[in-house]
Amino acid sequence: MSDQFDIIIIGGGMVGLALAIALKDTPLKIAIIDTELPDFNYDTKTYDLRVSAINLGSLNFFIELGVWSAIEQERVSAYDKMLVWTKNSTLAFSANDVNKPELGFIVENRVIRKCLWGELQQQENVTFIVPCKLKSVKIDPDNAKLETIDGKIMSAKLLIGADGAQSWLRQQLKFVVKKSSYGHTALVTTVQTELAHEHTAYQYFLPEGTVAFLPLANPNHCSIVWYHTAEKTQNLKNYSEAEFNVQLNLIFDKLGEISVSDRRLSFPLNKQHIEHYVQNRVAFIGDAAHTIHPLAGQGVNLGFSDARCLAQIILTALENKKDYFTYSTLRKYERQRKADNTVFLTAMDALKYCFTDLPATLTPWRDRGVTLVNKSTLLKKLFIEQALGDSE
Ligand SMILES: Cc1cc2nc3c(=O)[nH]c(=O)nc-3n(C[C@H](O)[C@H](O)[C@H](O)COP(=O)(O)OP(=O)(O)OC[C@H]3O[C@@H](n4cnc5c(N)ncnc54)[C@H](O)[C@@H]3O)c2cc1C
Repeated sequence: MSDQFDIIIIGGGMVGLALAIALKDTPLKIAIIDTELPDFNYDTKTYDLRVSAINLGSLNFFIELGVWSAIEQERVSAYDKMLVWTKNSTLAFSANDVNKPELGFIVENRVIRKCLWGELQQQENVTFIVPCKLKSVKIDPDNAKLETIDGKIMSAKLLIGADGAQSWLRQQLKFVVKKSSYGHTALVTTVQTELAHEHTAYQYFLPEGTVAFLPLANPNHCSIVWYHTAEKTQNLKNYSEAEFNVQLNLIFDKLGEISVSDRRLSFPLNKQHIEHYVQNRVAFIGDAAHTIHPLAGQGVNLGFSDARCLAQIILTALENKKDYFTYSTLRKYERQRKADNTVFLTAMDALKYCFTDLPATLTPWRDRGVTLVNKSTLLKKLFIEQALGDSE
């Protein structure tokens, strides 16, 4: 006998959990499978090394899901200014430019996950199957079947691949993915700053590597991301704390003396985009479908837009008494999200080229362009509105 569900979401990361909540007011029987049971009893004296810049589109989604107040109470940091600069040009954005109270929020990934997970504990139509290791998958015309490594069988009308950049489901079903390296490895850590960050996000593009400072809830703490080649990142990781501090203070001088206050982690950065997002009884969301350079902090925001869009298409099908798991229904999701995600992936290539790969002969032109944008209220407004993801 197999356990039967309407929808099985493989991957209880931020995006998979958000989709499950978006389907809360439905009769659908949903299972969430993850290989790991997360530990939410973390020490709040430190910050998660993984944080996300949440844009206003994702904020609105969290409000719709009824989880924002829990996230806000747990710990968030609003930012209302952004300073981007190169050696010879500066671009300053402010929430005032678009008449908003803030440009977004820096939130620890574990906070988002804890609050989404907590919300789902109260949802009667959701079962967690965690920890669980899957062995095989079979898609038949009338259902989708999963087998775990200990021989348990589960079936569903629809499988969702929300299992991250290395998606097991994507590999099992041999979905084609276009992949290329960005040639960057990101080093992340938390730092203490002498001067208060004043809710400003900083990004400095240097020949020696790009560094971003993201303001945390404590006014003198920032989460930093330092992008470099794999080799240089490894060197930065190997340095003693004292030597790392010297290197960081050499390039970043906006917040007084800076000292590292946590471990240093690194992540190789790849661009990935799945060729097809759906087939009959299968759909992919979040990093399982696409990964993007975090320079502009868009990755999980795009994932939340996937979850929101797919949930809406499933809800509409239910309302119209149509099958939500057929290719023709799921294709509507693919059409909407593939187009949007392609725009962002392409824009990111252009941004990365202009700011990190441009030949030295062209950088004066880039800097003139940046200065022009900085002087134009209209252009700045256009840039911010794209990044905010706020269509309301
Ligand atoms: C350095 C860095 C900084 C970033 N900063 C930002 C930012 O500021 N803003 C932003 O929007 N994005 C940012 N991103 C991107 C963001 O972190 C990702 O887009 C996001 O974590 C993807 O969420 P997800 O739920 O799709 O996947 P994941 O977070 O990868 O979750 C996948 C889940 O699936 C589970 N899983 C994996 N394999 C299996 C399996 N076989 N069976 C069952 N479960 C499985 C995993 O345990 C995990 O829980 C950043 C990324 C990096 C690397």
